Amino acid sequence: VEDPKIMVGIQERMLNVKHKILVLSGKGGVGKSTLTSMIARVFAQDLAKNVAVMDIDICGPSAPRIMGVEGETVHQSGSGWSPVYIGENLSVMSVGLLLASPDDAVIWRGPKKNGLIKQFLSEVDWGSLDYLLMDTPPGTSDEHLSIAQYMLPCQLTGAIIVTSPQEISLLDVRKEINFCRKVNIPIIGIVENMSWFVCPKCRKESEIFLATTGGARQMASEFNLPFLGQIPLDHRLTQACDEGIDFFEEYSDSATASAFIQLVKEI
Ligand code: ADP
Repeated sequence: VEDPKIMVGIQERMLNVKHKILVLSGKGGVGKSTLTSMIARVFAQDLAKNVAVMDIDICGPSAPRIMGVEGETVHQSGSGWSPVYIGENLSVMSVGLLLASPDDAVIWRGPKKNGLIKQFLSEVDWGSLDYLLMDTPPGTSDEHLSIAQYMLPCQLTGAIIVTSPQEISLLDVRKEINFCRKVNIPIIGIVENMSWFVCPKCRKESEIFLATTGGARQMASEFNLPFLGQIPLDHRLTQACDEGIDFFEEYSDSATASAFIQLVKEI
């Protein structure tokens, strides 16, 4: 049983956050962190919303690199930990910002992870937010149970499930959907990432996972869930995320940027 003081602390912080969204995926490597950061940028930069990314992928925190703040550290202030800001209305909090070096491995056991999630929710000075996007580890583990326990009483908006066409065939997404249903997390919808590929040389579009591209849309309809959209595999996106560059600033006219803007409209 959780200390009621902690639950009250979390609820007080969350009163200032309009939409609290979990980003989930069945497997690692489908682009969950990439999409979380890109969605955050669209909300913040295109729609002028106040947005924060909370990276609770404790064993593989990648938000600081993708958002271009690797090496920066969070500060403690009177009202709690201050997240790191990228511009005025976009911030990020990640275990990666608490480590001495980005290469430090984090091997924490369940209870310690739970403690950190609790602290991120109750002791970070998020300020007033329109959107808090929570980037979770792949699969359904202790972290997901903790976050559900803490966030459900705070009117969690729901979860976005990210998948790739390849993952569809492995049925991991079904597990994710079932988890949400079991613990009563509303599902905002499903996004398919890496749906097609545009050759940088000849501009030809190919569906790389040919047999399963579009499978996420089909699965969404099967489960009676909204389908939020498809994002192409784009080598410029890989590179931008690797280097922490703002993809939208660099490639504002690209089909990939439009796909993200379209996606955010559906959320
Ligand atoms: P996850 O959070 O699901 O483990 P990541 O967001 O870390 O996955 O993405 C895994 C790798 O795939 C990263 O190198 C990332 O840059 C790349 N990636 C993700 N989505 C795309 C995309 N649509 N186009 C190109 N590269 C992508």
